Parts: sequence; C-alpha cells; structure tokens
Amino acid sequence: MGLIVQKFGGSSVADAESIKRVAARIAASKRSGQQVVVVVSAMGDTTDELIDLANQVSPMPNGRELDMLLTAGERISMALLAMAISNLGLEARSFTGSQAGIITTSTHGRARVIDVTPGRIQEALAEGAIAIVAGFQGVAQDTKDITTLGRGGSDTTAVALAAALDADVCEIYTDVDGVFSADPRIVPTARKLKSVTYEEMLELAASGAKVLHLRCVEYARRFNLPIHVRSSFSNLEGTWVVKDQPEGGSMEQAIISGIAHDKSEAKITIVGVPDRAGVAARIFQAIADADVNIDMIVQNVSAAATGLTDISFTLPRTEGSRATSIVQKLQGEIGFQSIQYDDQIGKLSLIGAGMRSHPGVTANFFAAMASAGVNIEMISTSEIRISIVCRQADVERAVQAAHTAFDLDADQIEAVVYGGSGI
Ligand code: ADP
Ligand code: ASP
Ligand code: MG
Repeated sequence: MGLIVQKFGGSSVADAESIKRVAARIAASKRSGQQVVVVVSAMGDTTDELIDLANQVSPMPNGRELDMLLTAGERISMALLAMAISNLGLEARSFTGSQAGIITTSTHGRARVIDVTPGRIQEALAEGAIAIVAGFQGVAQDTKDITTLGRGGSDTTAVALAAALDADVCEIYTDVDGVFSADPRIVPTARKLKSVTYEEMLELAASGAKVLHLRCVEYARRFNLPIHVRSSFSNLEGTWVVKDQPEGGSMEQAIISGIAHDKSEAKITIVGVPDRAGVAARIFQAIADADVNIDMIVQNVSAAATGLTDISFTLPRTEGSRATSIVQKLQGEIGFQSIQYDDQIGKLSLIGAGMRSHPGVTANFFAAMASAGVNIEMISTSEIRISIVCRQADVERAVQAAHTAFDLDADQIEAVVYGGSGI
C-alpha cells in the first residue's frame, strides 16, 4: 500500500465549505487504497490576524508566547478537518506538531527541524486512520517549548514527515495550479512548469517565490523526495519538483525557468567607511551575532582622495530597525559618516540552469530593464541566478518585462489564482 503526504495551505482551508471540500479530496485518496497523512495550515489569514493581535497587546511580543499563540491557528484547522473527514465515514485523528514528533531547534519564530519521530502517526496509519498534522510547528529538543518554523513553514512539516515516513510523494496543495514561470498574481501570462529541479526551485524559493518554503525544498533534495505542487481547487496535474529534468519537453530546455520577485527586503547603506582590512568583518560579525540574515552586499571602490567607501546590504525588512541600531552602535569604534535606511526596494531574480551554458543572459536582462525604464541599484549572481535590486514600485513592471524578453509568456492564459489574499 502506498503512502502519500498531502499538505493543504491556508487558502485551501479558508472556511467551513473549503474544509469540507478538502476533506472529500482526502477521503477519495484514502478510498483509492493509499495511506494518507495530511498536513494542514491555519485557515485563511489566521496567522496574520494572530500576529496583529499580539502586536496590539505588546509591541515586541515574547518569542515563546508568540509561537504558542501562532500554533493555535493550525490546531483549529487540524481538528475541523478531522471532524469533516469523520463526517464522511472515515477515521481521522489530528496531532499537533509536537505529538507528530517534529523535533526542532529552540529558535522561536524560525526553528529548524532536527529530527522527526512519527511513532504516533505510524500507529494511527496502522490502525487504518488518516493522520492530520498541524503544520508549521514543533517542539524544541532542549527547552521542550513549542516552536514555529517560520512563515510558510507548513510545507516543511509536510516534506519532513514524508521523508521520515518514506512516503512515495509529498503533494503540496495550494491556490495556483503549480509552480509558474513567475508569480501568476502579477504575470497573467505566466506558464506552468511541468517540472523543475531542486536546484532551480531552491533558487526560486530563496529569491521570494513563496509557493514553496525554502527549507522544504532543501529537505526534499536531501532525501530525494519528489514534491508535486498542485491546486486544491482543480484536478489538473501540477508541477513536479525533482532531481533532474526529464528528457524532452519545450519548457525544460528554456534558458530561464522562472522569475522570482521579493518586496520584503530593505537596504542599509553605511556611508564613509574607512577602507581598511577588518572593518567589513567587524560590521558583519556584529550583525551575525544578532542572528540577522543578510542577502546582497555591495561595496564601492573607495574614493582616492578620502580613502572612504560605502557599504550597502539588503536584509529582511522585519530586521531593518534592529540591524540599523546594531550598526549605529559601531559608529564610534569604526568612524563611518552615516547610515541610510531604505525600505522602498524590490528584488527581481532570473533563474535557470541553462544560464550556465548560454552567454548573453545578463545583457538581455539588463536591456529589458533599460527599455522598461527600470534603474538597477544592486546586482548579485550565482551560477544559475541573476538578481537585481530596484525601486519597489518598479518590481512588477520589471518582472513582466523580463518575462516577455525571455519568451516565457504562455500562448493561452493558464495562470489561474483560485483564492487567497496573497499576503
Ligand atoms: P499556501 O497558503 O497554499 O501555502 P502560498 O500563498 O504560501 O500558499 O503560496 C502560493 C502563492 O505563491 C500563489 O498564490 C502565488 O501568488 C505565489 N507565487 C509566487 N511565485 C510563484 C510561482 N513562481 N509559481 C506559483 N505561485 C507563485
Ligand atoms: N500558517 C503559517 C503561515 O501563515 C504557516 C503556513 O501557512 O505554512 O505562515
Ligand atoms: Mg505557503
């Protein structure tokens, strides 16, 4: 008997009707003879609403308590889904992340899965039940406190469980028909990819294509577990995230597989930094000590007359004020002139394994930006990715221009967004 893990995102379980629709879908999988484990997210925008609530009672909510609060969202949907399934005549048992054996580090708000001990899930399956697991949460190995895995983390719960249970596939059900060549919310002519490699999907997810949580892709690659991203609102075949592209197929040969964008970052510029060994190390060590993740870094050539340079870097906007005050504290020690903070930036990334063997991608990309009137402020690259930073107001226009410039537009509109607010 096959074992399948199915994950349903918030927009797929936004209200009672949706929960019943999803329950029917799960029941059909079970009745087709498979063992079924379901991972479910909080209903609709519940997580955002809970965060708002926390901010109303405290400007800086305590991490432990915030995690305790947020995990309640997934507990609501898991119990309702189990009830809806039993109403269809099948046995379903719900489990919190902790009960399902999702063991994590103790960093509240972005804990990492370090072990999965799904004994209770296996028991439920052996007894013929469908197991429903609350996504996005676990329990810390050392403190035993409840943790969350970061926004979008239910995808990672699903893949981690699928790997631990040796499932045949992890199905991620969402509000679009698969992974598209760009976010269907801003590029209506985006194409659905039949398949995408772990390598490309990692770059897409890391660059802001939130259709899959980055960690879930890392996990799937480590265990070579296929992910099938598809819609819970249609029966269409979705996108397979796999190790290698299958032979043939037109999209598979495209130089660019997809374009991701990200409007959630900010830029800090440190102006007039003395250009000598050890200064950059001092700045970035202080930021790392505060556990702030930075993304792109650019350092200008120092002006010959002054020996001073400017250093800019991007980081999640949510960390912006914390990082600014950390750098500010170094001003006396390092002697830089000033700090500038810019939260009106956007990032655009072109991703494709074909870039390795095709020169000229950067030139085409920049030409497309020029004709769209988009000014490039920062650039970074990997072997299969080119990213730029531009004004946030220009991002959507820039994505559309690059999409057309690389011939990614579909002949017929296939990018349907079935639900969700896209927050
Ligand atoms: P869920 O609630 O199911 O986890 P998410 O909102 O996290 O759903 O992810 C689905 C959304 O990801 C889509 O509605 C879409 O707007 C967005 N998205 C961004 N980039 C892409 C892409 N390349 N392909 C498909 N969806 C994308
Ligand atoms: N409910 C959580 C969030 O909104 C986790 C998830 O949906 O994956 O981020
Ligand atoms: Mg998601």
